Amino acid sequence: GSDDTADEAVRSTCDDATVCKRFAVSMNYWKDPYIQYFIKQPNERKAPEINRGYYARVKAVNILMDAFIKKTSCNCQVINLGAGLDTTFWRLKDQNLLPKKYFEIDFPMIVLRKIHLIKTKPPLSKPIIETHSSSSLLIDGCSMDSDRYTIIGQDLRDLPVLMERLKKFGLNTKLPTLLLAECVLVYITPEKSAELIKWASSTFNTTMFINYEQVNMTDRFGQVMIENLQRRQCNLAGVDICQTLETQKDRFLLNGWDHANTMDMMTVYNSLPQADIQRIEHLEFLDEKELLQQLLQHYCICWATKDSGDFGIRDIMF
Ligand code: SAM
Repeated sequence: GSDDTADEAVRSTCDDATVCKRFAVSMNYWKDPYIQYFIKQPNERKAPEINRGYYARVKAVNILMDAFIKKTSCNCQVINLGAGLDTTFWRLKDQNLLPKKYFEIDFPMIVLRKIHLIKTKPPLSKPIIETHSSSSLLIDGCSMDSDRYTIIGQDLRDLPVLMERLKKFGLNTKLPTLLLAECVLVYITPEKSAELIKWASSTFNTTMFINYEQVNMTDRFGQVMIENLQRRQCNLAGVDICQTLETQKDRFLLNGWDHANTMDMMTVYNSLPQADIQRIEHLEFLDEKELLQQLLQHYCICWATKDSGDFGIRDIMF
């Protein structure tokens, strides 16, 4: 049906994200020894402003996530919504920052692919087996469960089933929980994302939600971004072109979250450790600085908190 076609186009976006990250890693923007197992060397170059944009996106998410994990002394859970081929679990393991349990959710088709890659690449499977107490991993249909890492093939728009499956795999609603949606809500209708956001705030007492996506799309540049995505038949159900930094924040505040912060990615870029920014700006020459500015002003990161346990997560900042 047309729904399946639309979902298929959305699923293909996970490759786009990983191809771009893979290329930036190959150019030394940041280190990720695991991404090579998900995408072979990309044969297409990406423009310098794209690479810098991905650098800011990955750094920003890592900074906020690591701060949350440290504030809770790793006594927490992470739920990566629409995780695609993300490699964060392996990074956290290497940096001794593994939460009690790390969950990933994506469409069954993506999850099956990821499980296959994990099973067949020892550098990916080793950390999962090492942190697992029994000798066999539970693989059921389109999910895989271990003590510290669980991946679930499940549509994010069906919350009752999602909750049931998370519980089956040991979700503890009493533990501080970080939810991440990196370029995901934009593919879900505003109503469905609001439900997801509300479900999270009502399920966990101490929690943070990190959302990364497009913003300020009403101008010419924003229109071109949307047209480019639509040309690839992407179902941008959640692109509300009127979203501003303010409405991004309100979306959380109106759905049960106590505090919310937003920054456009240009502001984030300027707030990142400047020594590292200088390093990456030397990797590739970027002629037109305005290009980067324009691009990054159309993406934002929003992080909302609810802190009944007084862990100080409300103070997390760049
Ligand atoms: N978060 C990853 C990253 O940043 O590298 C992947 C981002 S990719 C642009 C969007 C991901 O969201 C895809 O893997 C897609 O399959 C997933 N996704 C979109 N809508 C979804 C839904 N309704 N249920 C489950 N996953 C969904």
